Amino acid sequence: MKIAVIEDSSLVVSFWQNFLKPMGHEFAFFSSHREELARVGAYAPQVIFCAGVPMHQSGFEMGQALKSHKLTGGAGVVVCTTLGDDNLFKEWDASSIDAVLVKPFTRESVERVLAQLTRRYSRPQRERRLAVIIDDNKTARSVLEQQMTSLGFDVQTAVNGQAGYELILKSKPDIVLTDVEMPVMNGYELCAALSENPETHRLPILVVSSTVTDVEVHQGFKSGILDFLRKPFDSFKLSEAVATAIGREKVQHDGIAVVLSGDMKFSALLGKLFADLGLQDHHCANLNELSGYLSMIVPDIIAVDFSGVDHQACHMLEKLREQDDLKASPILVMVEADDRNAMINCLQHGANDFLIKPFVREEFNARVLNLVRTKLLFDELKQSSHILEGLAFIDSLTGLLNRRYLEEGLQQQFARAERTQRPLSIMMIDLDHFKRVNDMFGHAIGDEVLKSVSETVKSSVRNVDIACRYGGEELCVLMPGTPAMQARDIAEQVRRNIEAKTLTPKLIRQTVSLGVSTFPDLSGRDTLLSDADKALYMAKDMGRNRVLVKDENIA
Ligand code: GH3
Ligand code: MG
Ligand code: MG
Repeated sequence: MKIAVIEDSSLVVSFWQNFLKPMGHEFAFFSSHREELARVGAYAPQVIFCAGVPMHQSGFEMGQALKSHKLTGGAGVVVCTTLGDDNLFKEWDASSIDAVLVKPFTRESVERVLAQLTRRYSRPQRERRLAVIIDDNKTARSVLEQQMTSLGFDVQTAVNGQAGYELILKSKPDIVLTDVEMPVMNGYELCAALSENPETHRLPILVVSSTVTDVEVHQGFKSGILDFLRKPFDSFKLSEAVATAIGREKVQHDGIAVVLSGDMKFSALLGKLFADLGLQDHHCANLNELSGYLSMIVPDIIAVDFSGVDHQACHMLEKLREQDDLKASPILVMVEADDRNAMINCLQHGANDFLIKPFVREEFNARVLNLVRTKLLFDELKQSSHILEGLAFIDSLTGLLNRRYLEEGLQQQFARAERTQRPLSIMMIDLDHFKRVNDMFGHAIGDEVLKSVSETVKSSVRNVDIACRYGGEELCVLMPGTPAMQARDIAEQVRRNIEAKTLTPKLIRQTVSLGVSTFPDLSGRDTLLSDADKALYMAKDMGRNRVLVKDENIA
């Protein structure tokens, strides 16, 4: 890790020197003078440690300057201060601080802060985010490349897991999209290799496949950050999955048009017309290419040029219509003026609308927009009904799943655990002395604390784990495929992450107690929850801010 330390006191500088050297980090010292900022930038640090009260400018100015400077804006800013320093947030602008390191430091607390920041800052700074796409199929690669480019990514590709692994180590992407079935090294082996390498084990992986079942997911992948995209997908699903995987705000997506035409000039013209309407287009020269494309992605409109094509070709429209995912994609056919029969034929076989050549731009725009809008409206409806269904299971304060879901989810997870012969663990979490927070700061701040703890829980567990609000200030996490000892380690990580977080603006430090149990090893179906709960209350009795596994209580 490359660390810039901004510190004016020579005493503290020599302390840092003795402290950081044996930890194996690269570091350099700077004073808090305004003119030093350019030197800090030139050093290109990943993390900046800064004195809580810098001598030559206020923390507020310093934070603003560091965050707005081109060369330091991407680095994590850690303010080093004394516990209970209420002036910290008067001195500093909270939004320019990524972490607070409380004196006296320990090796452990410094490592913990660095580890927290690693995930965000270990990748090289660049203008656009980088995606690595791994697939042995050329069409799949080019479709994904096109899609990711339109989502604002730079793209590099590889043809199998082995080549992909090497590429990833070399170019450190922000996200990986990989196929499963590949020669040399398949998707499972790639994910295993990535999760074993400490440099890549936090890298978001999006598995793009039509064949993966949930069981394979649990058997094949140990990696923490993982999502699935089933083929064929539409641009909306892809942008959602990418946003989830990289944990960022939603990425913008355009509509997609696919053109089938044997005439290169004509399809180039169509491409331009589509682009003017804000749709990205993909050209297929024949039916083979089209069906390859459609097995990957669901477009928002399919434009078919029927000039000089056998009338029998109309039947392919029917075939398209039979494909389940394509039912909502409108088909626009284009025919020559003297071929009205073909047009009627096409409409009978499933086309939604037609254009007679030559046509004017206005007519093209009107028909295309009409079809695309209907399709997008349909998508939105589908989406909003999903959301409505989902909402019934989401707790509005914390955004976690609610107890109603837990009851259903638990039954499903028991069934899966039995089917796959893999353990199911649960961790129960209760906030320590939470009543005091309410009493001291009021219920509204209490709610903020609860929300923040929920976020930490969610971000500390894997995507496949199910985090719920059990009720009040009690949360729980179902961990499929997780044996008791591993569950205890995850619970311990959750505990530490919560303990390490300081809540602004009141500098509240909340801790939690956790109880763990495992089906079928430690508990039966009927006792899993209550056993974890008992372990939790044992942890409370033993002094709080700790993890207990069911069987440990017996001793
Ligand atoms: P401990 O668990 O360590 O024994 O102490 P505690 O003070 O956390 O436990 P207790 O069960 O006595 O109090 C729980 C408190 O949690 C009381 C209740 O007002 C508060 N609480 C429960 N749900 C919410 C909520 O949604 N928002 C807020 N602000 N407070 C809540
Ligand atoms: Mg409590
Ligand atoms: Mg409670």
